[in-house]
Amino acid sequence: MLKFYNTLTRKIEEFKPLNKSKVNIYSCGPTIYSYVHLGNLRAFLFYDLLRRYLKYKGFKVKQVMNITDVDDKTIKGANDEKMSLKEFTEKYEKLFFEDLKKLNVETFEYYPRATEHIKEMVKIVQILLKNGYAYKTDDGIYFSVAKFDSYGNLTGQKLKQIEAGIRIKKDEYDKEEAHDFALWKFWDETDGDVFWETEVGKGRPGWHLECSAMSMKYLGKTLDIHTGGIDLIFPHHQNEIAQSEASTGKPFVNYWMHNEHLMVEGKKMSKSLGNLYTLKDLEKKGYNPKVIRYELISSHYRQRSNFTFKGLDASKNAIDKLTNFVELSKGKKDGEIIGELIKKAKTKFEEAMDEDLNISEGLAVIFEFVKEANKIGAGKKACKAIMEFDEVLGILSYEKEDVPEEIKEIAKEREEARTKKDWKTSDKLRDEIKNKGYSIEDLDTGYRLKKI
Ligand code: AMP
Ligand code: ZN
Repeated sequence: MLKFYNTLTRKIEEFKPLNKSKVNIYSCGPTIYSYVHLGNLRAFLFYDLLRRYLKYKGFKVKQVMNITDVDDKTIKGANDEKMSLKEFTEKYEKLFFEDLKKLNVETFEYYPRATEHIKEMVKIVQILLKNGYAYKTDDGIYFSVAKFDSYGNLTGQKLKQIEAGIRIKKDEYDKEEAHDFALWKFWDETDGDVFWETEVGKGRPGWHLECSAMSMKYLGKTLDIHTGGIDLIFPHHQNEIAQSEASTGKPFVNYWMHNEHLMVEGKKMSKSLGNLYTLKDLEKKGYNPKVIRYELISSHYRQRSNFTFKGLDASKNAIDKLTNFVELSKGKKDGEIIGELIKKAKTKFEEAMDEDLNISEGLAVIFEFVKEANKIGAGKKACKAIMEFDEVLGILSYEKEDVPEEIKEIAKEREEARTKKDWKTSDKLRDEIKNKGYSIEDLDTGYRLKKI
């Protein structure tokens, strides 16, 4: 039974999506005012691991990751560099996508930019003004937290100063204090040429509002899962709940999932502390992005993990072990009881991952399988089993990544048809793939897709 820890209830719960076979996920994306660092990447890799495991379990996933391209930080960055906001953010957006690709993060269904969803944000502000949850002042439109009865439900601890009227215009503020927060910020000269003329005034959205508007636009009023790093629980996610639920009257999110931080010498890796590494930094030191991917996914997402070079070296060894196993077993004959071993390993792997994505246990199962399979003789079947585990790990399948999702889906269907020995369907799907410009080569361990 698949279970996740839900920040909202502070319990591990059985996962039941709204629709039996489909899952909607909204994942808080980057604020593109600087290079993303390994801490951010840990969060994005957690989103990817969650996605891959849900797909492995047979769910169809629809996932949105927003791009915050307007907020206090991006505007300040553009001003400091004397660039337009668009020019400034475009550069970091491009670098961000390059990092995701290098880390073999699957392509999500949507990557909405905040600046392209102002209309949706204004609509929410109008609803909140109308139903009395929002009020207007000289410098903006604010959400009245005292009006929202369950404000504070996500944090699990009492918030200070919950009384009405204490306002804060900044996007980020003290982690323990409840304030009325800005939904819409009226233009002032520090905003320069960043503003929109709208029905609720000339100005720009608050950061929190952006995520409510974009998530509900693509996924509906109630989402199955919302993810982010733990630093976003308060105020960002709490404010998302307040605005969204106050405007729709429906529960906003059923499962809130938050990843713990990546630390460096006991401190959170962050831009403000200046203790960060980027993917590029490590590539320059000779590390393959695969190693960084492995390192960042291999400790449980709710556990703090410490960034060390020793850890990276251990990850490299683990990958080498898997790669060697695949190379050596390819095309060989399996030992007699391999079927039994595979079945046992799969069951144990799923049991581990079903328990709130217990990846450390999942990896232990895989390496135990490698050891046992080597003892009895590892061949084609053993190799195929490892490649199936790798659909979740995403370590051995790097070369498949340039292929569009649509083609990969068809290839998967074809593989299913082949397993059922439905050769007619399998041939039809092969032609379909070909017509779309890709070839499919069958291997002992699965298949390989290539652009023609
Ligand atoms: P930001 O661009 O700062 O909005 O962050 C993007 C994502 O990275 C958010 O989900 C943050 O919670 C997450 N994040 C930031 N720093 C870390 C860290 N050191 N470890 C893990 N996640 C982090
Ligand atoms: Zn967000």
